[in-house]
Amino acid sequence: MAAGDAEIDVHGATDSNAGQTLFRFLRTAGRAAVDYALPPRCPGCGVIVGEDRQFCLSCWSSLHFLDGPACARCSIPLPTALPGGAVECGACMADAPPFDGAPAAVAYGPVARTVALRLKYGRRTGHARLMAQLMARPLAALGRSEEVLLVPVPLHRWRLWSRGFNQAALVAEALARLTGAAHDPHLLVRARATAALRGKGRRERERIVAGAFALAPDARARAAGRHLVLVDDVHASGATLRAAARALRRSGAARISALSWARVVPDALMTSNIFDFASLDSDIGDERTAG
Ligand SMILES: [Zn+2]
Ligand SMILES: [Zn+2]
Repeated sequence: MAAGDAEIDVHGATDSNAGQTLFRFLRTAGRAAVDYALPPRCPGCGVIVGEDRQFCLSCWSSLHFLDGPACARCSIPLPTALPGGAVECGACMADAPPFDGAPAAVAYGPVARTVALRLKYGRRTGHARLMAQLMARPLAALGRSEEVLLVPVPLHRWRLWSRGFNQAALVAEALARLTGAAHDPHLLVRARATAALRGKGRRERERIVAGAFALAPDARARAAGRHLVLVDDVHASGATLRAAARALRRSGAARISALSWARVVPDALMTSNIFDFASLDSDIGDERTAG
C-alpha cells in the first residue's frame, strides 16, 4: 500500500469527509476569486504576462516541442527522419507497446514539470486548458477527431478522494471541449491502488502497475470500433500507459493511442536540452508544490 493511501485511511470518518469537501470548496472558491482579481501570470515561472494561459518569453523558448521525427509506434523522438516513412525505435522492435502512437506536446523539463505539478497539486484548472491547447496538435496528428474517444488515465478512488480531482480527466475534458473529440472519463477504472512509481526502474514499474486497470462493465458498448486515446499528464517510463492500454484492448476498440502533456526524453535525443534528467522524479510521485 502506498504511503498516501495509508494516510487516507486515518481520515476515513464521515464527519471528516464533509469537512474535507467544505474545505476543498472554500479553497477552490477562494482561488477563483483570487485568480479573477490578480493579473495573469506565466504558468511556468509566475512573472506577470499580458494574457491568461500565456508563457513568458523565457519559459516559452525553454519548452521543447516534440514535433520532429519520431518512432511510429511509441512516438519517442528519433535523431533523424529516415526516408521511406514509418520507422520504429529499437525498443518497440524488441517489445512492441500495446498502442499505436504515444505523442506528447513537450519534452519533460523544468517548465513542463511546473505546469503539471501546479495542475496536480494546486488545482490550477486553467493549466489543464493550457496543456490541452498545446496537446491539440499532436492529437490532430493521431487521427480524425470524430473517431477519437479520449480516455483519461484514472486514479484509484482513494487517491481521487484525497486529491478531489483527477488531473488527467481535467486535461481530457479540456481537450474534448477544444477539439470536439468525445471523451469518456469512466471507461477505464483503477481496479486497485498502486504504489508510487517514483524512483523505480522500468521493470519494477511494469510489475507495480500490471493489472491495475479494468474496463467499466459496459465499456464494450461505448468503445467498440473507436479510436481510443489515453490521456495523461506525464509520460515517464510508459509503464502506466502500457498497463492502461492493455486493459483497453479488451474493449473491442479499433485502435489505441496515448497522448500526454510532457514526455521524458533521454538527453541523447534532445538537441537543445539543458535539464538534468538524472534528477527526474518521474510520475511526480507525491511531491507537493506551493500554489
Ligand atoms: Zn515564465
Ligand atoms: Zn518506439
